[in-house]
Amino acid sequence: MSRAHASLVIEPPKGVIYVDPVGDPAQYSDLPPADLALITHHHGDHLNNETLTALMGDNTTLISNKGAQDKMTADLATRAQVIGNAETTSFGDIGIEAIAAYNTTQDRLQFHPQGRDNGYVLNIGDTRVYLSGDTEDVPQMRALKNIDVALLCMNLPFTMGIQAAASAVADFKPAVVIPYHYRGRDGGSQDPKAFATMLDSAIKVKQGNWYGKGKGMI
Ligand SMILES: [Zn+2]
Repeated sequence: MSRAHASLVIEPPKGVIYVDPVGDPAQYSDLPPADLALITHHHGDHLNNETLTALMGDNTTLISNKGAQDKMTADLATRAQVIGNAETTSFGDIGIEAIAAYNTTQDRLQFHPQGRDNGYVLNIGDTRVYLSGDTEDVPQMRALKNIDVALLCMNLPFTMGIQAAASAVADFKPAVVIPYHYRGRDGGSQDPKAFATMLDSAIKVKQGNWYGKGKGMI
């Protein structure tokens, strides 16, 4: 399900879900238009109006936080359904929960202030998938229950380092963790393999090809 950095595609039994699609729309040319597009926040590696517009079909549902809606083109903004931290909505039989995503370290607060950006939990059948968005190891993450798959960001200074990520995982115990968003434009890359060694062996880690050539699929 990986694509690049923070962009991913989920293919539940029915339909296609795009999360934070950015970059050349040709990356997605093997897929149909989105049934559901989810945007976590407005930063350029999560929201790109051209990419998103190219992937929107006539019937695509677009769900976003308010901050990203504010940066969308008029057409996209009109179509966006805004959901805030701790709110829930649904798409067909998929339940969607918006999870607070923010920085907590003093000199990082400006990147993702509390209350603005979203992570999401998707309830697809019996499977609960957590998409962290850009966040540190906030209490709302640590309190998550029954997560089957967690897509977890890790890079500095914008989100969190691998120690904080591993500490949070020890608390909310997802069955599977997929590190993503772990390279920074200005350095600050985190090593997802080193992260994997910090976890209890009961927790499985899957590594995606987020930064390689071609479309890395998990
Ligand atoms: Zn961000």
